[in-house]
Amino acid sequence: MPDLITNDMICTVCPLGCRLTLEKDGEGYVVKGNQCKRGETFAIEEFTHPARMLTTTVRLTRSRHARLPVHSSSPLPRDMLFRAMAEINACSVAAPVRTGQVVIGNILGTGVDICSSRDVDQ
Ligand code: SF4
Repeated sequence: MPDLITNDMICTVCPLGCRLTLEKDGEGYVVKGNQCKRGETFAIEEFTHPARMLTTTVRLTRSRHARLPVHSSSPLPRDMLFRAMAEINACSVAAPVRTGQVVIGNILGTGVDICSSRDVDQ
Protein backbone atom coordinates (compact mmCIF):
# COMPACT_ATOMS: atom_id res chain seq x y z
CA MET A 1 0.00 0.00 0.00
CA PRO A 2 1.52 3.37 -1.04
CA ASP A 3 2.30 5.94 1.67
CA LEU A 4 0.63 9.32 1.27
CA ILE A 5 3.16 12.19 0.99
CA THR A 6 0.70 14.98 0.21
CA ASN A 7 -2.77 15.46 -1.23
CA ASP A 8 -2.43 19.22 -1.28
CA MET A 9 -0.17 20.06 -4.22
CA ILE A 10 -1.24 22.30 -7.11
CA CYS A 11 0.42 21.77 -10.47
CA THR A 12 1.74 25.11 -11.74
CA VAL A 13 2.86 23.91 -15.16
CA CYS A 14 -0.28 25.17 -16.94
CA PRO A 15 -3.28 27.34 -16.03
CA LEU A 16 -5.54 24.34 -15.29
CA GLY A 17 -3.86 23.99 -11.89
CA CYS A 18 -4.69 20.33 -11.23
CA ARG A 19 -4.78 19.32 -7.55
CA LEU A 20 -2.26 16.52 -7.14
CA THR A 21 -1.78 13.68 -4.71
CA LEU A 22 1.71 12.23 -4.30
CA GLU A 23 2.35 8.81 -2.78
CA LYS A 24 5.52 6.82 -2.16
CA ASP A 25 5.31 3.29 -3.47
CA GLY A 26 8.46 1.32 -2.68
CA GLU A 27 11.30 3.05 -4.51
CA GLY A 28 8.94 4.98 -6.79
CA TYR A 29 6.18 7.56 -6.62
CA VAL A 30 2.53 7.52 -7.62
CA VAL A 31 0.91 10.77 -8.73
CA LYS A 32 -2.88 11.16 -8.94
CA GLY A 33 -5.07 14.03 -10.06
CA ASN A 34 -2.85 15.05 -12.95
CA GLN A 35 -4.45 15.39 -16.37
CA CYS A 36 -1.18 14.92 -18.25
CA LYS A 37 2.32 13.50 -17.88
CA ARG A 38 3.80 16.93 -17.11
CA GLY A 39 1.89 16.99 -13.84
CA GLU A 40 3.49 13.72 -12.78
CA THR A 41 6.96 15.08 -13.52
CA PHE A 42 6.13 18.33 -11.70
CA ALA A 43 4.92 16.56 -8.54
CA ILE A 44 7.95 14.28 -8.27
CA GLU A 45 10.47 17.05 -8.95
CA GLU A 46 8.69 19.43 -6.57
CA PHE A 47 9.04 16.85 -3.80
CA THR A 48 12.53 15.49 -4.57
CA HIS A 49 14.41 18.67 -5.62
CA PRO A 50 12.21 21.77 -5.78
CA ALA A 51 13.57 24.62 -7.87
CA ARG A 52 12.38 28.07 -8.89
CA MET A 53 13.15 30.62 -11.56
CA LEU A 54 14.55 33.72 -9.87
CA THR A 55 13.48 37.16 -11.09
CA THR A 56 14.70 40.23 -9.29
CA THR A 57 16.73 43.41 -9.85
CA VAL A 58 20.37 44.33 -9.45
CA ARG A 59 21.97 47.71 -8.72
CA LEU A 60 22.76 49.61 -11.92
CA THR A 61 25.46 52.27 -12.32
CA ARG A 62 26.23 54.80 -15.12
CA SER A 63 22.50 54.93 -15.85
CA ARG A 64 19.49 57.11 -15.13
CA HIS A 65 17.84 53.88 -13.87
CA ALA A 66 18.73 52.69 -10.36
CA ARG A 67 17.97 48.98 -10.89
CA LEU A 68 18.25 46.45 -13.71
CA PRO A 69 15.67 43.62 -13.98
CA VAL A 70 17.41 40.23 -14.10
CA HIS A 71 16.38 36.56 -14.18
CA SER A 72 18.00 33.18 -13.75
CA SER A 73 18.82 31.28 -16.94
CA SER A 74 17.11 28.20 -15.48
CA PRO A 75 15.50 27.22 -12.15
CA LEU A 76 17.67 27.35 -9.01
CA PRO A 77 17.33 24.92 -6.10
CA ARG A 78 14.76 26.47 -3.78
CA ASP A 79 17.01 26.15 -0.72
CA MET A 80 19.66 28.31 -2.45
CA LEU A 81 17.42 31.26 -3.31
CA PHE A 82 18.28 33.36 -0.25
CA ARG A 83 22.03 32.89 -0.78
CA ALA A 84 21.59 33.71 -4.46
CA MET A 85 19.75 36.91 -3.52
CA ALA A 86 22.55 37.87 -1.13
CA GLU A 87 25.09 37.51 -3.96
CA ILE A 88 22.89 39.49 -6.36
CA ASN A 89 22.35 42.25 -3.79
CA ALA A 90 26.11 42.51 -3.25
CA CYS A 91 26.88 43.22 -6.90
CA SER A 92 26.22 46.00 -9.39
CA VAL A 93 26.39 46.27 -13.15
CA ALA A 94 27.30 49.29 -15.28
CA ALA A 95 25.26 50.43 -18.27
CA PRO A 96 25.08 49.85 -21.18
CA VAL A 97 23.60 46.37 -20.77
CA ARG A 98 21.92 44.14 -23.35
CA THR A 99 19.02 41.73 -22.86
CA GLY A 100 20.37 38.28 -22.01
CA GLN A 101 23.78 39.57 -20.98
CA VAL A 102 25.21 37.54 -18.12
CA VAL A 103 25.41 39.69 -15.00
CA ILE A 104 26.59 36.91 -12.65
CA GLY A 105 27.86 33.70 -14.21
CA ASN A 106 27.49 30.29 -12.53
CA ILE A 107 25.93 31.74 -9.40
CA LEU A 108 26.90 29.73 -6.27
CA GLY A 109 28.49 27.11 -8.53
CA THR A 110 25.07 25.95 -9.76
CA GLY A 111 25.79 26.36 -13.45
CA VAL A 112 22.94 28.89 -13.60
CA ASP A 113 23.60 32.42 -14.84
CA ILE A 114 21.85 35.61 -13.75
CA CYS A 115 21.02 37.53 -16.93
CA SER A 116 19.73 40.96 -17.82
CA SER A 117 16.02 41.05 -18.71
CA ARG A 118 16.24 44.27 -20.74
CA ASP A 119 18.42 46.63 -22.70
CA VAL A 120 19.66 49.71 -20.86
CA ASP A 121 21.76 52.23 -22.77
CA GLN A 122 22.09 54.84 -20.03
S1 SF4 B 1 -1.29 18.12 -14.68
FE1 SF4 B 1 -1.12 18.76 -16.83
S2 SF4 B 1 -3.15 19.64 -17.26
FE2 SF4 B 1 -2.96 19.57 -15.03
S3 SF4 B 1 -2.11 21.58 -14.43
FE3 SF4 B 1 -0.37 20.17 -14.68
S4 SF4 B 1 0.30 20.51 -16.79
FE4 SF4 B 1 -1.78 21.34 -16.61
